[in-house]
Amino acid sequence: MTTQTVKQLINGEFVESTTSEWIELTNPATQEVIAKVPQTTSDEINQAVAAAAEAFKTWRKTPINTRSRIFLKYQQLIRDNMDELAAMLTEEQGKTLADAKGDVFRGLEVVEHASGIGNLQQGAFIENVATGVDMYNIQQPLGVCAGITPFNFPAMIPLWMFPMAIATGNTFVLKPSEQNPMVTMRLVELALEAGIPKGVLNVVHGGKDTVDAICDHPDIKAISFVGSTAVGTHVYNRASQAGKRVQCMMGAKNHAVILPDANKEQCLNQLAGAAFGAAGQRCMALSVVILVGEAKNWVGDIVERAKKLVVAAGKDDKDLGPVISKAAKARVERLIQAGADEGAQVLLDGRGIKVEGFENGNFVGPTILDNVTTDMTCYKEEIFGPVLDIMYADSLDEAIAIINANPNGNGTAIFTQSGAAAHKFQQDIDVGQVGINLPIPVPLPMFSFTGSRASKLGDLGPYGKQAVQFYTQTKTVTARWFDDEASKGVNTTISLK
Ligand code: NAD
Repeated sequence: MTTQTVKQLINGEFVESTTSEWIELTNPATQEVIAKVPQTTSDEINQAVAAAAEAFKTWRKTPINTRSRIFLKYQQLIRDNMDELAAMLTEEQGKTLADAKGDVFRGLEVVEHASGIGNLQQGAFIENVATGVDMYNIQQPLGVCAGITPFNFPAMIPLWMFPMAIATGNTFVLKPSEQNPMVTMRLVELALEAGIPKGVLNVVHGGKDTVDAICDHPDIKAISFVGSTAVGTHVYNRASQAGKRVQCMMGAKNHAVILPDANKEQCLNQLAGAAFGAAGQRCMALSVVILVGEAKNWVGDIVERAKKLVVAAGKDDKDLGPVISKAAKARVERLIQAGADEGAQVLLDGRGIKVEGFENGNFVGPTILDNVTTDMTCYKEEIFGPVLDIMYADSLDEAIAIINANPNGNGTAIFTQSGAAAHKFQQDIDVGQVGINLPIPVPLPMFSFTGSRASKLGDLGPYGKQAVQFYTQTKTVTARWFDDEASKGVNTTISLK
């Protein structure tokens, strides 16, 4: 049986690549090869960008309500196909079916938001900034924009990008993760079915070569990147150097602070879900917990909850599935060992776990490292697996100091019943997304994703109001009409009224 190939989308056609370089796409629960992904050739990248540049000429002038209606239809198509999308996502990514639906749903919310573009892409108008003179802004699309996405949310993150870019009047070239582009491609098919015209959305594939070509291409005006800090920094530097507008959402190390007055049941349940759910492969996973004061006595309860979580193939819809690849599993296991070697106690060890019927899967069970300190490798590196580091502090101030000294600023959470403590945390913590008695505080699209410090490069977030700014250029027009004064001779001075 021949392995199916993932197609590219160029100028409205799903086309096979002419490349000789193919990447095998495997099911993380079985290692079974599902498909082959092309390393798109540079010629094909140029074709995709050229198609997007040509389509921009008409798309930028398409009425805003026409654009908006496409996304209204698109959101319905995503809803109608939710089960199929989730099953595809689980097969190639590994997460549980319930979590896969969550992945699609979070993206769907951005599509819903994009359908309201008529209320978002508005400028300002002031009448009479001088006698008979009006001044106004218009938010104009930039041109061809590009998106580069990671493996961990193959539905949500592409949907953070192209709906907002296209709704604002741009055309787009998407480069999905080469580790799981199939659900992304199905979402792209549905986008065309919803009415996105040919050339407005294009898809190319591959790894570093494709990313570098996107960074360098003179006809691409802006890039939205989500992925690791190392690659995001490279993309930011290279694409900025080439004169592009760039935003990069990157790696993380997210701390939960537990105060002893927290509602214990709620807090520990939420912590377990946020540390180990999606096998820890969320940029907002809570991977460090700081127990303050008497909350130190809750360690045993944390371990008990983690032990109860069931690891299984994603399609069996238990608590956590496999990590994405053999290499990812080896990395997670190496970092657990580094923790043990550097003095952390391994209270729960998920290495070597066997899932019946899926002996080849990339499984790692929930793992807990205790007495972690800030100099340990397991603290300094993002593990991106189901591993929780436990640390201790005597006071809220001390916990805040630990978090603020960590370079990352993606997410954090505090668990307490004290309004005063929560308020202090909200004010003093130097992290872009803060949860109060809530473990994964990802903003809805009425806001924007606001990770900060080393977790982000660029000023603006990838969806919501900030994305409208990111994907548009503000033009200011100053207009004089019906001005009799203008005909009364030359004025060489700056107007004083
Ligand atoms: P990654 O950086 O390995 O890959 C991201 C993209 O970059 C992919 O499309 C990949 O093909 C490309 N790429 C990989 N290596 C490259 C290289 N050397 N040069 C140029 N391009 C390259 O990230 P990943 O492993 O797919 O995703 C996990 C990472 O993404 C984690 O660090 C996670 O925290 C981060 N992430 C961040 C957010 C956020 O919003 N801050 C959201 C999701 C994931």
